[in-house]
Amino acid sequence: MSNIKIIDTHCHLDFKELNTRLDQVIKDARINNVSDMVTISTNLSRINSIKEISEQYKEVFFTVGVHPNEAHKDKQFDDHEFIKNYSSHKKCVGIGEGGLDYYYNKENMSLQKRSLEVQINVARSTNLPMVIHSRDADNDMIEILKSEYKNGSFKAILHCFSSGEELAYCGLDLDFFISFSGILTFNSAKNIQKIAKNIPINKILVETDSPYLAPSPVRGSINEPKNCIHTAQFLSKLRDINFLELSKILYDNSLTIYDKIKLWKEK
Ligand SMILES: [Zn+2]
Repeated sequence: MSNIKIIDTHCHLDFKELNTRLDQVIKDARINNVSDMVTISTNLSRINSIKEISEQYKEVFFTVGVHPNEAHKDKQFDDHEFIKNYSSHKKCVGIGEGGLDYYYNKENMSLQKRSLEVQINVARSTNLPMVIHSRDADNDMIEILKSEYKNGSFKAILHCFSSGEELAYCGLDLDFFISFSGILTFNSAKNIQKIAKNIPINKILVETDSPYLAPSPVRGSINEPKNCIHTAQFLSKLRDINFLELSKILYDNSLTIYDKIKLWKEK
């Protein structure tokens, strides 16, 4: 397994399930061929701790942004200048995660939309990828993505993809990447598996979204970046591609969309 390198493109190392034992979490990731990880911002009040984690561990990068379920709790949820200024940090590689979550937070729909649009604007002006969260909001998401794209192109990742085909193909039309979490490995996820089997391989990423959504065969446990390998192995069987070859494709895809990581590695 020594040639295998996987990047966990989306995790939450600042959450207490992981933050209290970070040395071990990072070490276990390394042992399990997860070479790098991107820890994702959810609330700007916590951004300093995320930045500090990235400064402490060479394999950790971060994003800056506001999760749709945090928008109503984050005083700076639409602070364009703050997000933009923060994004210039050398290890800040993306904007988000922003998006729409009508499963948990339908009552804050307009705040979520405002927050998402502000973050897309920063992503567009910085050329950093926008990390997009969408749950039970496919129609509104498609509408916002298409109309924002008309205002000028931007890069994006549809993260923890668990939506329908229409959003997947809308994203692909806009040249976005689609990232699959442990959900892909669940028996109930036939529709998501179908999408992962059929979309262009050069648009696919894997992630853990840890500490949530541990993939099979460790489903139900606290998830960690090291488990990214299980989702990648599942994908390798689903796509019938040799695991070493698939891991190279996924690694290249991760560096294509998170191009600041690539620059960092070339230094
Ligand atoms: Zn997340």
